[in-house]
Amino acid sequence: EHRTREMILKTAREEDVEFIRLQFTDMLGNLRNMAVTKSQLKKALDNDCIFDASTLDGFSGQEETELCLHPDPDSFVILPWRPQQGKVARMICDIYQTDQKAYSLCSRGILKRVMNEAHVMGYDFIAGPECEFFLFHTDDDGRPTRLTHDRAGYFDLGPLDLGENARRDMVLTLEDMGFQVESSYHEAAPGQHEIDFHHFSGLEAADSLMTFKFAVRTIAKRHGLHATFMPKPTAGENGSGMHINCILRDANGNNVFYDEKNDLGLSQTAYYFIGGILKHIRGMSLITNPLVNSYKRLVSGFEAPVFIGWALKSKSQILRIPSSRGEKTKIELRSPDSSANPYLVLASILAAGLDGIKNEVHPPKNMEENLNNLSKKELENREISLLPGNLDEAIQAFEEDTFLSQVLGADFAGRLIEMKRAEWEDYIQQVTDWEIDRYMYHI
Ligand code: GLN
Ligand code: MG
Ligand code: MG
Ligand code: MG
Repeated sequence: EHRTREMILKTAREEDVEFIRLQFTDMLGNLRNMAVTKSQLKKALDNDCIFDASTLDGFSGQEETELCLHPDPDSFVILPWRPQQGKVARMICDIYQTDQKAYSLCSRGILKRVMNEAHVMGYDFIAGPECEFFLFHTDDDGRPTRLTHDRAGYFDLGPLDLGENARRDMVLTLEDMGFQVESSYHEAAPGQHEIDFHHFSGLEAADSLMTFKFAVRTIAKRHGLHATFMPKPTAGENGSGMHINCILRDANGNNVFYDEKNDLGLSQTAYYFIGGILKHIRGMSLITNPLVNSYKRLVSGFEAPVFIGWALKSKSQILRIPSSRGEKTKIELRSPDSSANPYLVLASILAAGLDGIKNEVHPPKNMEENLNNLSKKELENREISLLPGNLDEAIQAFEEDTFLSQVLGADFAGRLIEMKRAEWEDYIQQVTDWEIDRYMYHI
C-alpha cells in the first residue's frame, strides 16, 4: 500500500496542486521546509532537490553545506488550510548528503535506523503519543501573550472552554489530513489542551507529531490564539507532557508485552523493555526534555514524573502501565515533553527498550505508593533515583551514557551537547524576574 511516484504525480495533477512543500525536521525538532512548484515535483521525487543548510541550527559550520532532500511519497498530503485552488501539498523528507550517503544529522534517519534494528530482532514498534499544549491569546499585533481568559479545567466543556472551537477545528483538520485522533479534551490547567493519537508505527507517529504541531499552530492562529508546546509556560500550573504509549509486536502482529500467565499480565519481554528504559532514562532526558524550561515541569505536584521507577497507577514515576491488556498491553513513558524532537524521543525509547531485551535488564519491582512522601534519606536507602533536576544535569547524564551517543551517532551527539551547553550557559547568566522580586527590595 505504499504510494508510487506515478500515484503522486497523478494526484497532484487531478487535485490541481500548485506548490509542494518539502518538509524535514532539524536537530532540535523544528519543522523546516522548502517550497517547490509543481514543475519541480518530478525532480523532487527523483531525490534531486538540493538545499543550502549552512544557516540551519546545528547543521552549520559543516564543510558540506549542500544537502539533498529525499521525500517520502507515503507522506504526501494536501494542506487543508491552504487555498483550494492551486493547492499546497507537503511531503516529509529524509536528508542525504549530495553524494547520496545518509546525513548524520537527520533525526528521521536515526529513528529509521533503530526501527530497522527492531525489525531485525523480529519486532515492530508501535507508538501512541498524547500531546499537551497551551492556547494563549494574542495581542493586537498578533504576538502571543501569557493570557488565557479560559477558566476551564480537566474535561470541562463550553462555554467555560474558550479553546473548544479551536480544538474542534484542529481535530477536523487533522482528520482531513488522514490522521486518526483518539480523543481530545481540555487539560487541567487554564488554556491547556490535549489531543491523543491513534497508535501508529513509530515512524508514522513521529511524522504525525510534526504534522500535528504544524496544524495546531496554524489553526490556533486562525482563531486569534497562539499554541505553544513549551513545557511549562505558567509557574504554579501543570506543564505540557508528551506521554508516549509503547507497544512491541512480533512478525505475526501479536503484542509481545502481554502474558496472561503473569500476575500483572506482562511478559518477560515487557519487563526487560521497562528495565532498559529505567537504565537509560537519565541520559535520555536530554532528548525527551531538551530545554531549560523542561525541568520546571518535572517537579512534584503537577502530575509530571520525578522518580525513576514504574507503577500501574502512580503519576510521579516515569513509567506507568495502563490497565488494558491483551493486544492493547502498553508501556507509557510520561517524562517526555511536547518540546522534544519526536524522532529522537521514539528512537531513544525503542533503542533503550531493545537494549533491555538484549541484555536482559531486570527492572526493580513496581512501586505503587506515593513516593512524594519519602524523605531524601529514604529514597537513598531504597535506591530510588530521580530524573535530572535541570538541563545541566541532563547534559552530564547524557554524556555519561555512551550507549545514547551510539544511538544518535557521535556526530549528532557531539553537536547536541555543544548546542545544549551553550543554551545552559546563556541561561545561567540571566537575571530573572523572580530574582528581582525576591532580592531587590530587601537585600
Ligand atoms: N500535564 C501532565 C504532565 O506534565 C500530565 C497530566 C495528565 O495527562 N494526567 O505530564
Ligand atoms: Mg493523557
Ligand atoms: Mg494529559
Ligand atoms: Mg498519559
